[in-house]
Amino acid sequence: MNTNYTNNTNDTNICSLVWRIFIRIISTHLYIGIALWIILSISFLPFKLGSAIIVQDGVPKVPPKKFPQGYFVEPTDSSLKIAGNFGEIRPNHFHAGIDVKTAGKEGLMVYAAADGYVSRIKISPWGYGKCLYITHPNGYVTVYAHLKRFYGKIAKYLELEQYRLEQYDVELFPDSNLLNVKQCDTVAISGNTGGSQSPHLHFEIRDAATEHAYNPFLFGFKIEDTVPPKLMTLAIYPANDSSLVNGKNVSRKTKLYGSKGKYKPSPSEKITVSGDIGFGIEAYDYANIKEAGKLGAYSVDLYIDGQRIFYHELNEISFDESRYINSHIDYAEEAKNNKEIQKCFREENNMLSIYQCVVNEGLFRFSDTLTHAVKFIVKDFFGNASELNLRVKSQKSNMPLPKVPPKVNNNHFNCSEQNKFETDNIKIEIPPCALYSDIDFNYLMSKNTLPKAFAPVHAIHKEDVPLHTNYSLSIKTKPIPENLQSKSTIVLLDGNNTMTDQKGSPTPALPEGEGGGRASSPPSGELEGAVWITTQTKYFGRFTVALDTVAPSIKPYNIYNGKNMNRAKTISIIISDNLSGIKSYRGTIDGKWILMEFEPKKALLFYEFAEHLGAGKHTFSVEVTDGKNNVRTYKTEFIR
Ligand SMILES: [Zn+2]
Repeated sequence: MNTNYTNNTNDTNICSLVWRIFIRIISTHLYIGIALWIILSISFLPFKLGSAIIVQDGVPKVPPKKFPQGYFVEPTDSSLKIAGNFGEIRPNHFHAGIDVKTAGKEGLMVYAAADGYVSRIKISPWGYGKCLYITHPNGYVTVYAHLKRFYGKIAKYLELEQYRLEQYDVELFPDSNLLNVKQCDTVAISGNTGGSQSPHLHFEIRDAATEHAYNPFLFGFKIEDTVPPKLMTLAIYPANDSSLVNGKNVSRKTKLYGSKGKYKPSPSEKITVSGDIGFGIEAYDYANIKEAGKLGAYSVDLYIDGQRIFYHELNEISFDESRYINSHIDYAEEAKNNKEIQKCFREENNMLSIYQCVVNEGLFRFSDTLTHAVKFIVKDFFGNASELNLRVKSQKSNMPLPKVPPKVNNNHFNCSEQNKFETDNIKIEIPPCALYSDIDFNYLMSKNTLPKAFAPVHAIHKEDVPLHTNYSLSIKTKPIPENLQSKSTIVLLDGNNTMTDQKGSPTPALPEGEGGGRASSPPSGELEGAVWITTQTKYFGRFTVALDTVAPSIKPYNIYNGKNMNRAKTISIIISDNLSGIKSYRGTIDGKWILMEFEPKKALLFYEFAEHLGAGKHTFSVEVTDGKNNVRTYKTEFIR
């Protein structure tokens, strides 16, 4: 198995010295360089082979880079208060920056953290919302997200581009000489756009070359934090069919008690283990000000009988790897009970680079009859630490395993290989490494079809098993009239059988590979009108097929025919769609494109009146299209 871990050697200094000598030689004598490289590769091989990172005696890797202290200043006024920290566990990703509090409101000035130039502007109703990127001469990029608007020349540049492209959601990469900024220049106004749930500024520091995000605290940003993390739950996992926790082949979660950095399970909790066992912990950090709320822990350390088994700390996150968080945490526990349990062992296809010590994949073999000491140390960035100490009793695993009833349609899927599953009604293709570990695949098709559905319900494995990448899902439909086949879409069902085009956040369109689906013509011999619909999805769960033939709805919010809009600041309408989501919209006044902004949290589509709009009678028109190309138009006259 290939891994991305590059800092595996014991001594970074020796490494860099050797590297420098090697570069010097290769630049003059290529052949000597190659020979030297081969020798070096062989001599360092023991440290690079295998997937475990070997850190003897449990000395953690020091962040290899020197981070400039005080180079970046705080991007808002007042001393830094945060509502979210780096590395916090979020849906499908690690939080890549800090969430700076903006006094609970929008409209605060946002300043350039250092001299540089605006290198990217991205506008989206989703994710980072209105987002600004400033590249600095020292090789870092600062990122400012969820902005309300931009300021000065940046705002002017953006608006010109939006009108030129006739598009609100744009991504621009201005030339390096176009939008230069000085440290502390006002660049934007704070807001609540995109995936933000309340007003704040999301601030990141990235490496310009790798685009990896770094923990801003590494650059000297500080918050008042003398509070150690709180340890909530201990989880103990049997690693395979023959390991047991308290006599059972299922995981055990137990509540933790304690304060001031010392934690224990309940005194009545007696834990026995046998075979290969993994551990996990639910822990959160808190800062001195209460309003900061729950933050993420910086590091987690696991020792068994004094030996370090596992260690990770959160200094750097690659966006390519962030989704591995679904393997890092106990995904099912998060989905079911909202508990963020971080596992201290690594699944086969978890390629996260945050682990700095992983002995035997973090699993410990209990094969004797002794009592063993388990110790967790969880720290925040500022060194406040909490400890959990407990003892587990090892038992020889000579107990008979509980008999597993034979499963229907049971298939063992090897996570490193491609897996296919096919019936008369469904085809599934899961690419290699889409799964984090092997599964015994489950599948069930319902006998009945839901009202308004065009296929039975297909229960595809378990919704609490995460996937890293898309897999291909094809469902055969019941007969669909030919003129409606293009309106068919694969939908995911929630617990109440409500159809959603994708899991999680609402979506305007069907982003690539989530829900939706393409119809293809039926192979010969198929039921007439039945088609195969294919989609790419990252979710297991219950799927069926529905038709979206209903155009989006448009409700005027502050406008009606003939209204005098002299005092109005905006034209606002409410738009929504029943199934496939809003894909696009286009607003005009007197036939000319206008910049309309979509705020999905309020289903609000609005236009801010520009000064240059002349007095008199005008025609406002807007056209809204959903993911299945159903179009609704609204047109009205107003006076200004
Ligand atoms: Zn954030």
